[in-house]
Amino acid sequence: MTNIMRHKLLFFAFFAAFALPSYAAKPKVVAHRGYWKTEGSAQNSIRALVKADSVGCHSTEFDVWISADGGLYVNHNADINGVVIETADSAALAACRLGNGEPLPTLSAFLDTAATLKTQLVFELKPHKNPERENAAIEKIIRMVRDKGVEDRITYITFSRNAFDGFVAKGGRPVFYLNGVSPEVLKEIGGSGADYHINIFRKNPEWIGRLHSMGMPVNIWTVDSEADIQWCIDHGADYITTNEPELAMRLVEEAYQPRKLRVMTYNLRFGELADMDRLAREIKAAEPDFVAIQEVDVNTNRDLARHNNGLNYVSELAQRTGMFGHYARTLNFGRKGYYGIGILSRHPAVRVEKLELPALAAGEPRAMLEGVFEIDGKKKIVFASTHLDVKSDKTRALQAEYIVKRLAEAGLPAIIGGDFNAKPEEEAITVLRTAMDDLSDAAPTFPATGAKSKIDYLFGMPKGMVVLEKCTVPESSSAPASDHLPVVSEVEVRM
Ligand code: MG
Repeated sequence: MTNIMRHKLLFFAFFAAFALPSYAAKPKVVAHRGYWKTEGSAQNSIRALVKADSVGCHSTEFDVWISADGGLYVNHNADINGVVIETADSAALAACRLGNGEPLPTLSAFLDTAATLKTQLVFELKPHKNPERENAAIEKIIRMVRDKGVEDRITYITFSRNAFDGFVAKGGRPVFYLNGVSPEVLKEIGGSGADYHINIFRKNPEWIGRLHSMGMPVNIWTVDSEADIQWCIDHGADYITTNEPELAMRLVEEAYQPRKLRVMTYNLRFGELADMDRLAREIKAAEPDFVAIQEVDVNTNRDLARHNNGLNYVSELAQRTGMFGHYARTLNFGRKGYYGIGILSRHPAVRVEKLELPALAAGEPRAMLEGVFEIDGKKKIVFASTHLDVKSDKTRALQAEYIVKRLAEAGLPAIIGGDFNAKPEEEAITVLRTAMDDLSDAAPTFPATGAKSKIDYLFGMPKGMVVLEKCTVPESSSAPASDHLPVVSEVEVRM
């Protein structure tokens, strides 16, 4: 095995462990004890189950007890109207009515109705007075769930460690634990996910990312206020368990409206072919939200670009386009000048950082300028600019791997634009396309006059979250503003 191959295997193993779970997926709403805050309904009633399904709740949560004679019933409290389910027999329980007049639902009747619906089922087994009763319940439950054909739609939850272990041992999967143990302990005991009170996550918000990085989804209860629901959305909850499912679904939909952005990448050829007015005009005409720019000078004196001597290109372009400008030096140039890459952004930054890219041999230093930006004052996105090595395809592949790993770590939708110095069939581009969506088309970008090669790209991650709507590369020109053509893409971010 060559060193490069070994490096690559390590890299992909590392990346696979990182990339998948760290992004916030759109949270799913779980109706707590059914959707019961409606006319003629009651908690844990069959009516509340049907209502949760009819308004489109992803899941319905309900609570289950076993009676003295082994009957399974759906109810939250240990008793119904003073009749304690654990110590009552089925004859006594058959006479019990819910607040809305429904008979106390048997689990069998509840699941028969559920089998006709779409809603997923979050099945809570209540802690009983002794473990034997719980064990007996688990045996019956797993059999009944299988017989009713709803096995694939069930997630078990419980506060009882004995019942939790019982479900895990008997293959009743997935099993989420309700007691707020740490992510590491939850993994250790065989949990499929965490289903914790919101106060536990408010105290330990970093647990959410840790659970995700271990492949365990996060369900948060009981989240009823607008502020709490929003907190869960903002912190990447996978499930929100609530008594207000319609409010929660509306807030989730509002938070996950796709956002259109126009993104651009443009190698400016250190301003050799155009002054700042012309470059700014071209950029402004594309109406971009973000521009990745390469070959950007600051305070240089070049015979080839006299009209731009002494200028700070990013500041000049930012000022002319009304955008924010960010800059990373990759080389010193002349006595007081710099050469490097930049970002123009219509959106304010949270942080912007220069990252030096690895290389297999000494050469021109290369960097990625990476920023986290706030869109519409709340949602965050990563936008980055880069310009890869020109000499070695192996170095470019290494740099591409670094970029993919780094962008994945942010746990946010990310877009990078750049001059990758690589044609589409090259390894560096394969690395990028494996982990990201290509947000540009096949149109050649270089040289600007008589363009033949595509070496400028935009990429988005995670896959499926940044969707290309339209890519524009202008026609080759006999009097271009740079030796590269710009790439402008309209994308939809499913953020
Ligand atoms: Mg419950």
